[in-house]
Amino acid sequence: CGVFGVLAAEGDIAKLVYFGLYALQHRGQESAGITVYDAQGRTHTHKAMGLVSQVFNETILNELKGALAIGHNRYSTTGSSKVCNAQPIVVETRLGDFALAHNGNLVNATELRGELADQGHALESTTDSEGIAFAVSEAVEDGKDWQEAIIVALRRCRGAFSLVMAMPNAIAGARDAYGVRPLVIGKTPDGSYVLSSETCGLDIIGAEYVREVMPGELVIITTEHGLQSWQWQEAQPKLCVFEMIYFARPDSVMHDESLYTYRMRIGRELAKESFVDADIVIGVPDSGIPAAIGFSRESGIAYAEGLIKNRYVGRTFIQPTQAMRESGIRMKLNPLKDVLQDKRVIVIDDSIVRGTTSRKIVRALREAGATEVHMRISSPPVTHPCFYGIDTDSQDHLIASHLSVEAIAKQIEVDTLAYLSHDAMLKATQIDTSHFCTACFTGKYPIDVPDKLKRTKLM
Ligand code: 5GP
Ligand code: SF4
Ligand code: MG
Repeated sequence: CGVFGVLAAEGDIAKLVYFGLYALQHRGQESAGITVYDAQGRTHTHKAMGLVSQVFNETILNELKGALAIGHNRYSTTGSSKVCNAQPIVVETRLGDFALAHNGNLVNATELRGELADQGHALESTTDSEGIAFAVSEAVEDGKDWQEAIIVALRRCRGAFSLVMAMPNAIAGARDAYGVRPLVIGKTPDGSYVLSSETCGLDIIGAEYVREVMPGELVIITTEHGLQSWQWQEAQPKLCVFEMIYFARPDSVMHDESLYTYRMRIGRELAKESFVDADIVIGVPDSGIPAAIGFSRESGIAYAEGLIKNRYVGRTFIQPTQAMRESGIRMKLNPLKDVLQDKRVIVIDDSIVRGTTSRKIVRALREAGATEVHMRISSPPVTHPCFYGIDTDSQDHLIASHLSVEAIAKQIEVDTLAYLSHDAMLKATQIDTSHFCTACFTGKYPIDVPDKLKRTKLM
């Protein structure tokens, strides 16, 4: 999911949130929503299924009046694909409305929702995120102020959560102790504060990057006091490495460099580890392109565009069913015969998850005249499901969970196949290699996943 929030001194800022969500569209395409607080501290929410550009129009945005707002793009990992699961979630409290937008996935959602239901809360959605909002409101009703109540609620949550929250007069951002999902702070030239999943959400509205919300940190921002911070839990950084490789936008900055630069570098590493002679190197648009350029520069083999993507089709993996996925890829990529004809081709992609996309691409390349197809993947084999907010599916759908590299090569019909090593993937980040979650490549989950939850996906 994508989360975003703005606090301005005055003016109507729903449009800023709209553009922020628009830049974060790649993080979730199922539903979108914005909650605005008006001058009296009352909330106005508009949320619906669909892309940001489908959910909002000029008229709707003009009606969302206020200088404080948060927004959300949903990519469903828990809870079904329904409008009641769209966010922001708004709950009433004695201190006024509390609004919440969540990116990530709790591993104790069932327990938390159960406890809250026992205490008489009427949960409306099927998401883990609603549990967090109700936990905050419960603590507020117990007499706590906002900051105390949020910390009490955060301590009841286990799993991955980057949150953007709002109250009358304040926005807040928080991350779990591991910082699995990203969240950054920005400031506009006129002094408005911004919270965004990624820095590309700051760029689009002309905000300067200030810093990230730290793992285990809560920030509360008010016009009166500016930004205040609490380290509510000790940081044990474990950023999702898939954010670096695939999920986040290439123009977003993490650890002081754009992900484009990181992705080019892992392409170079891939060329060092698994060179093969060929006539051209191509990337699978869009996610495979930076690594393909890196591979080409390192190997000296010419880079070419061999597949053209229809810009108006969403990322295939957001689509919920296997059948839709299979038809999705046909709508999405078209091979360039003139480029591929009689060529030995190296094709680079960021990952192989189910293998369905890859096989279709390989067939398309051969039909277009490629004489050899060598696939190179800029991440290691995905062998385990994710429980922290990326829908890599259950384990039996992950092709590398039950097949060797040689067997996968056969299945996707390539001449040769090689993956980037785990070591090279981490070293190329150029920061402390222990600061990443890599569980989908290793099965070593940094945050304990309860057996009951594991069983839902480990089969
Ligand atoms: P596959 O061959 O596994 O069907 O698809 C691999 C391609 O789709 C890659 O280009 C990758 O960017 C994208 N992809 C599809 N599904 C997923 C997913 O669930 N997680 C990730 N990280 N990438 C996916
Ligand atoms: Fe990211 Fe994989 Fe860890 Fe999930 S399991 S958070 S996709 S690295
Ligand atoms: Mg891709």
